[in-house]
Amino acid sequence: MIRTRNKNVTASQWSANGSSIDIVDLTDQANVPFGSKVFTISEQTDRLSADTIKKLQATLETGESLDTSLADEVATAMKDWALEQGVTHYTHVFQPLTGSTAEKHDSFFDPDGEGKAIAKFKGSELIQGEPDASSFPTGGVRDTFEARGYTAWDPTSPAFILDNPNGALLCIPTAFASWTGEALDAKIPLLRSMDALSKSAVRALKLLGDDETSRVFTTVGPEQEYFLIDEQYFYERPDLYTTGRTLFGAKPPKGHELDDHYFGSIPERVLAFMMESERELQELGVPVKTRHNEVAPGQYELAPVFENSNVGSDHQQLTMQIMESVARRYGLICLLHEKPFAGVNGSGKHNNWSMGTDTGGNLLDPGHTPEDNVSFMFFCAAVIQAVNKHQGLLRASVANIGQDHRLGANEAPPAIISIFLGAELEKAFEVISGNPSDAEGPGEFLELGVSVLPPLPMDGGDRNRTSPFAFTGNKFEFRALGSSMSLAFPNTALNTIAAEAIDELADSLEKNLADGKEIPEAVAAVVKEAYGASKQVCFMGDNYDEAWHAEAEKRGLKNLRTTPDALPEVLADDTVAAFENYDVLSRRELESRFEVWVEQYTTRANMEGETTDSIARTMILPAALRYLELGVNAEVSAVGDEVRPLVDELISRIKELEQANRYPDGIEGLELAIYARDNQLAKMAEVREVADKLEKVVPDYLWPLPKYSEILFIK
Ligand code: ADP
Ligand code: MG
Repeated sequence: MIRTRNKNVTASQWSANGSSIDIVDLTDQANVPFGSKVFTISEQTDRLSADTIKKLQATLETGESLDTSLADEVATAMKDWALEQGVTHYTHVFQPLTGSTAEKHDSFFDPDGEGKAIAKFKGSELIQGEPDASSFPTGGVRDTFEARGYTAWDPTSPAFILDNPNGALLCIPTAFASWTGEALDAKIPLLRSMDALSKSAVRALKLLGDDETSRVFTTVGPEQEYFLIDEQYFYERPDLYTTGRTLFGAKPPKGHELDDHYFGSIPERVLAFMMESERELQELGVPVKTRHNEVAPGQYELAPVFENSNVGSDHQQLTMQIMESVARRYGLICLLHEKPFAGVNGSGKHNNWSMGTDTGGNLLDPGHTPEDNVSFMFFCAAVIQAVNKHQGLLRASVANIGQDHRLGANEAPPAIISIFLGAELEKAFEVISGNPSDAEGPGEFLELGVSVLPPLPMDGGDRNRTSPFAFTGNKFEFRALGSSMSLAFPNTALNTIAAEAIDELADSLEKNLADGKEIPEAVAAVVKEAYGASKQVCFMGDNYDEAWHAEAEKRGLKNLRTTPDALPEVLADDTVAAFENYDVLSRRELESRFEVWVEQYTTRANMEGETTDSIARTMILPAALRYLELGVNAEVSAVGDEVRPLVDELISRIKELEQANRYPDGIEGLELAIYARDNQLAKMAEVREVADKLEKVVPDYLWPLPKYSEILFIK
């Protein structure tokens, strides 16, 4: 297809043309959409017996396992509620190791034998499904001859209804395991890690004098970045629809240099998309809150209010799904790839993380009383110790092929994991460690009843946006996640390593208390020791700076630039020990994840390699030849002089890529991933380099791909 300006003109001509979702009076509670598609606690209260509600509540609040005798009653109530809303089918939604969401639909309706059908939904169907799961990746956990795994209802994440123009679907959040009990999904380990952290934190809180807290749950508030582009451009680019990113594209004359996009006014079509997706997410109980433009042209962000990690993680999967489907209604495509456009900022997902108590407290909130401060410093020190010890695991938890264009590639944040504490908090730690910078300040906070920590800034000038792991007032913000990622594994890792560190600090606290120290004094000793041993991971400077890379190396911090460098950390001794000790993942379960993730890397590298080859050969080369022909026919030798060498170069580089695309026999696993990185991806970059040069000289009407300047700027 020959491209003309027409596409751009069409792309720019969006109007709401009657399909709007309408404005309603939100002072009327009945119009407030929040949770209307969710089997909420209040919906359950209306439909279930008081006794059942009480038992369900206990499951939610204490993490006790579910009393299966309740299943039939709950299933019937859920079915009745769903049928009233037009639901015909139900599905157990789960998260296999691919990181995406899987579903298999079953109808409520069974033939009654007399020519009609009746709606049925048994407790056993609610609680357990048996998908033929043989084609989900398991990394060798389940041999293919045992083709079945089973799915188990997760009552702590509420069921919800997804609408479709032609009907509605009841979605039941579910865990997915093998018959031998191994986790084949992302949810089970996350739930296990939340349990582990709760146990450690409750134990520590007791030592700190808190007898009221009986459960601690981790919280997550993800900030999701994404691009929106007109769908015409998307479907004209095989690289975008096959791999999620552009494999070609010269830098546009206008980038984000003008900084005119960040927090700028939101284009009407984009705003309309945001409003509809937010409305839909609210109906699904996802507490979306913030929206704004991001740094790159065509890039935006959405953030919800934080929730417990399990629900927050499920909601995040749903958010990505809803954004992708709503975008289509506006003729847009929502790109969740970490780096859709080379030379333009990539997209991440900031994972705001904290620990909340069932008494309403936040363990990472310094609070206003000396007691709170003491406990805060304890938990904060534990996080520092955990992050320092398990830097490699944290890096691995955010590794995927898309991320390799951000982390370790001169983009925020770097592949080196470090913590930003902020000047005030750093000072507090230094003072406790016996290094007072000046007499006044947080040092006094340990003298109970005298003074407290100064208020720590939540925001503002002090924020260090270059840090991969920053303290932001009452939570840590793990900024290294990629925009397409599930929250589940990074949070599983965080919770597990925090549980371990909290226990280690609690052991030491116990000893200090046994020695007769008062709590503040004992905590000071523990914090001093933990911080002293781990402070190498704290860095307040500019993480983009080359000097930091040298400094980090001197400090012995890990710099794992690419996915194949990072993934082995999943099987590092410290990782396996932490996951096994806290019953989160066994070595076998970790091995299965490692295998699946390595394979995903290679598979995606190969898709990119093949797509690069095919676009270069069948789209770009012919366009270049046409131009050459024009020059020859017009007898303008300058054209030939310029284009011919580029064409020759393109052809030879394509040949080299094709060579690299043929994987050598006899290597597999990590070795093959490394081969793909060092050969296939390297050769792709070389093909692209010449192709991008050609893009700048070949006549526009001959160029077969929409250009960055069109894709990113026409809205
Ligand atoms: P910024 O862009 O400045 O980082 P945002 O307001 O966009 O800030 O996002 C902050 C995120 O942090 C929100 O998703 C919010 O819900 C989340 N958050 C706030 N408190 C907590 C907490 N205690 N635990 C987890 N996440 C939190
Ligand atoms: Mg943020």
